[in-house]
Amino acid sequence: MSARARQGPGKIGKAAARRPKCPLCGKPQAHDYRPFCSKHCADIDLGRWLDGRYVVPGEKVAKDESDDGDRQA
Ligand SMILES: [Zn+2]
Repeated sequence: MSARARQGPGKIGKAAARRPKCPLCGKPQAHDYRPFCSKHCADIDLGRWLDGRYVVPGEKVAKDESDDGDRQA
């Protein structure tokens, strides 16, 4: 028996594996709250969505174009 511990050149080990970080605070993500690090950050993000703050700047809500002369007098 022999433990094969090859260190291939250019191979990235576990230690160097990229760990995704929380987009809000930069801490390592928690499995249960991906992509966030904790319930706290997950709640913050969710709250933003619910508040409607995640709107694209410059692209406002479409105006009502109901009264646009659609009837004939
Ligand atoms: Zn976080």
